[in-house]
Amino acid sequence: CLVAGAVLAAFVGLVAAWRSFRRQLQLSEMKSNFVSSVSHELRAPIASVRLMAENLEGDKIQEPQKQKEYFGFIVQECRRLSSLIENVLDFSRIESGRKQYEFEPTDVVALVRQTVTLMQPNAAEKQVQLLLKLDDSQLSTLNSQPIEMDGRAIQQALVNLIDNASKHSPKGETVTVGIEMQNEKCKMNNRDDATTLKPQPSTLNLFVSDHGPGIPPEEHEKIFERFYRRGSELRRETQGVGIGLSIVKHIVEAHGGRVLVQSELGQGSRFTIELPFKI
Ligand code: ADP
Repeated sequence: CLVAGAVLAAFVGLVAAWRSFRRQLQLSEMKSNFVSSVSHELRAPIASVRLMAENLEGDKIQEPQKQKEYFGFIVQECRRLSSLIENVLDFSRIESGRKQYEFEPTDVVALVRQTVTLMQPNAAEKQVQLLLKLDDSQLSTLNSQPIEMDGRAIQQALVNLIDNASKHSPKGETVTVGIEMQNEKCKMNNRDDATTLKPQPSTLNLFVSDHGPGIPPEEHEKIFERFYRRGSELRRETQGVGIGLSIVKHIVEAHGGRVLVQSELGQGSRFTIELPFKI
C-alpha cells in the first residue's frame, strides 16, 4: 500500500509539474508573440506617418484636398499609437502592482457621451457606425447623482471595448454603446406608513454591442487572459496585441464590478461593464 501510495503521489506530482511546465511554455510563447505584435503595431504606423510627413515637407503633395487627407491620416495614426502606448504602460503598471485608481464623483452620462465622441473617428476609419443608446427615464436618476469612480480608467475600459467592437465589425455595421441600470426591488416606507415597493438601482451597466463574428462560449474566459488572442498568428486579420480585455477586467474589478460577455459565433458580441451602484 505504501509503495502504491508513493507511486501515485509521484505520478500526481509529475503530472502537475508537466502541466505547469506546459503553461510556462505557452506563456513564454504568448509573451514573445506579444513583443513581436507590439513592435509590428508600432513600426507600421510610424513608417506611414514618416512617409506622409516627408511628402508634405518636400512639397510633393500640392493638392489641398490631398494634403488634408494626409494630415487626417497622420492624426489618426498618432491617435492609434497613443492608445497602444497607453495600454502597454497601463499593462506594465498592473503587472508590477503599481496601478493606482483615483475615485471621485463622476458624471457617468457625460463620460460615456464624451467617450463615444472621442471614438467616432476610430469607428469612421473602420467604416462602422457608432451609436449611443441612453434610456431617458433611467438617466434622470444618473444625471442628478454623480457616481464614485476613476473616470479616466473607466473611459479607457470603454475605449478598449469600443475599439474591439469596431475592428471586429464588418464594414457598414453598427456598434452600440449604452448605459443601463439594473433594478432591485426594495421596500420603502411612504409618508402614510403603508409599505410600497420602489425599484432601487443595484448595478450600473455600461455596454458595447456589435454585429461582428462573435466568440464561441468556450473562449469567453480565455479572451480576458493577458496576451490571449483568438486564432492563429498567421491567419489573424485584426490588429491588436492581446492585452486590451485583461486591462478592462482589472479596471472593472478594481471598482468592485465585473465584465460580462454574451456572444456566440455568427451572432455578434455584447460586453457589459457591471459596476455596483454606489453614490
Ligand atoms: P486584442 O484585441 O489586442 O487582440 P484583446 O485582449 O482586446 O486583445 O482581445 C482578446 C481577443 O478577444 C481578441 O484577439 C479577439 O479575438 C477577441 N475579441 C475581443 N473583442 C471581440 C469582439 N467584439 N468580437 C469578436 N472577438 C473579440
